[in-house]
Amino acid sequence: MIPAQTVREIIDAARIEEVVEEFVSLRKRGINRIGLCPFHNEKTPSFNVNPTRNIFKCFGCGKGGDAITFLMEHENFTYPEALRWLARKYNIEIQEVEQSPEQRAEQQLADSLYIVNDFALEHFQTQLFDTDEGKSVALAYFKQRGIREDTIRSFGLGYAPNLPDLLLQRAKVVGHSPELLRKVGLSSQDGNRDFFRGRVMFPIHNLSGKVAAFAGRTMSSDKKVPKYINSPETEIYVKNKTLYGAFQSKKAIRQKDECILVEGYTDVISLHQAGIENVVASSGTSLTEGQLQLIKRNTNNLKILYDGDPAGVKAALRGLDLALEQDLNVKIVLLPEGEDPDSFVQQIGSEAFGEYISKEAKDFILFKTQLLLEETQGDPIRKAGLIKDIMGSIALIPDPIKRGLYLKECSSLMDVSEQVLYEETNKLINVALRKKADREARQPGAATDMPGRADDRPDIPEQEMVKPVRENVAKGSSEIREWDIIRLLIQFGGQELTDENMTVAELILSDIEESLTAFDNPLYGQIAAECHALLTEGKTLAPAYFLEHESKAIRTLAIDILAESDRWQYSPNWEDMKDLPLQSQPKPEMNFSADSHKALNMFKLQKLNKILEINKERIKMADHSGDLEELVRLQKVHIKLQEVVREISRRTGTIVLR
Ligand code: ZN
Repeated sequence: MIPAQTVREIIDAARIEEVVEEFVSLRKRGINRIGLCPFHNEKTPSFNVNPTRNIFKCFGCGKGGDAITFLMEHENFTYPEALRWLARKYNIEIQEVEQSPEQRAEQQLADSLYIVNDFALEHFQTQLFDTDEGKSVALAYFKQRGIREDTIRSFGLGYAPNLPDLLLQRAKVVGHSPELLRKVGLSSQDGNRDFFRGRVMFPIHNLSGKVAAFAGRTMSSDKKVPKYINSPETEIYVKNKTLYGAFQSKKAIRQKDECILVEGYTDVISLHQAGIENVVASSGTSLTEGQLQLIKRNTNNLKILYDGDPAGVKAALRGLDLALEQDLNVKIVLLPEGEDPDSFVQQIGSEAFGEYISKEAKDFILFKTQLLLEETQGDPIRKAGLIKDIMGSIALIPDPIKRGLYLKECSSLMDVSEQVLYEETNKLINVALRKKADREARQPGAATDMPGRADDRPDIPEQEMVKPVRENVAKGSSEIREWDIIRLLIQFGGQELTDENMTVAELILSDIEESLTAFDNPLYGQIAAECHALLTEGKTLAPAYFLEHESKAIRTLAIDILAESDRWQYSPNWEDMKDLPLQSQPKPEMNFSADSHKALNMFKLQKLNKILEINKERIKMADHSGDLEELVRLQKVHIKLQEVVREISRRTGTIVLR
């Protein structure tokens, strides 16, 4: 283990530009460096490295973070691996904390289990290729399934003949302990027989390509024999953190920026053989968080291929909310009835298959909405249940902009006002946040760095991923106004406003004190409240506070905002370009005073407009129910609200048509 102090030393020594340049060629632009993004395919560089802030950010795919994040993402390193790499680069000596005897024993056991698995892998391959039974039974089976020999070899497929203890016998000859074979699940629990007999064998690799387990498909036609059996869970095989094919597919997944999920081993193999290599299989179980995180290490885009009837698909959809929570973009592809990916690709060929799945891919939430809507058929109670169900899914999406887009789409699909859906989701989000806060409060030390546990990065950034900010700005939703406030707090919070004799944060927070709980975006609300608390304690805000925040969401947001602002900064020779009409204007980063006032007014306008909208709905309802008294009261409120809106609009020079 690496001592915490050394971890700090390594992190302080790491220069983002030096680390990135080991893998990507960069050129200078202003104080930044730019290059072609290694995480997605592009022809014009949008990959930015900012030496001042020591972060990178891609404005194409959104990836961003520090040197450690870069190594973890680019090299598939674990946190300790990234630290060791950096330590070597910067000649920092790691005085490893002495492993405890238990830890050492655990490590040694894992090493020996891998060795035994490697031995078994070779054994199964020999049985497949070099024995008469292997050739006539297993090789013939693979060939009949259309699997070529090069594919068989690259996936390490093999054969376990139908003999009681062939593997055990051979292991004894070369000196492998029977106890280890039992521990890794290659023999029966009593250690007398081979676990896999009369089966074609599929090795299951971990992400670094080591064989962690096996799956075996029976060659028997006896219906009582289970078709597939798997190695049991062991020290080196945790089922819910494993995806079949993840090792073979990770490069293609990253290049295509998409992961295709299928059900079976042969689906993965067959698609690979057809040249579609960004495929993994969940092996039947519904997706777990650990598996989704594995996917997220390489892409945010998940395409799930389903074969089966609508009822089966509906059941499968229930398991997908976890994927939304991980901020994955999930698409669903239904295969024609009676086809699985394996049969279908063999039937129509890889090109037509690729066309089919990109044409037929449907967004998960919209797909689910349509599927469930068909069932409700004008039954209002069932429809109410459906709305709750769908909003429950949408509420899980961490990205507010994406959420907003879904609400818009679903509003028209379900014929329910966007406002109602909006409030419904926000309620759900707030409930979830409260639950989460409770959970964290009940786990002492959960949110803090624990000394001595340097091998686990606190809050691992599987993906420091937020939509490019520029995209957000074009949307004009309430969250943009809120985002603008948060941007100013993060970027300029501690800066003094010369005319006002206070800081940007003081100006903003004193002005919207009463609105602090009215943020639509819970994260922004949390940040604003936190800033307020800091000011109350007499502290000053600085960008570093957010960049080093213990919450991943806040770190990510800060990286995004700061990287974005640096991106649009003026080039160093800007001052020399005397003829530029802009020349008399202050640089945008110096203009935070005007910026702050404008953002504040826009924020307030937005909040007022929202109240106006709600009021309008109420007027409609009062009108509908014939409640005249209420109607008159609401109309008076409406006029008052409009006056205030007009006043603020006049001040900001914004024309608001309402
Ligand atoms: Zn990129």
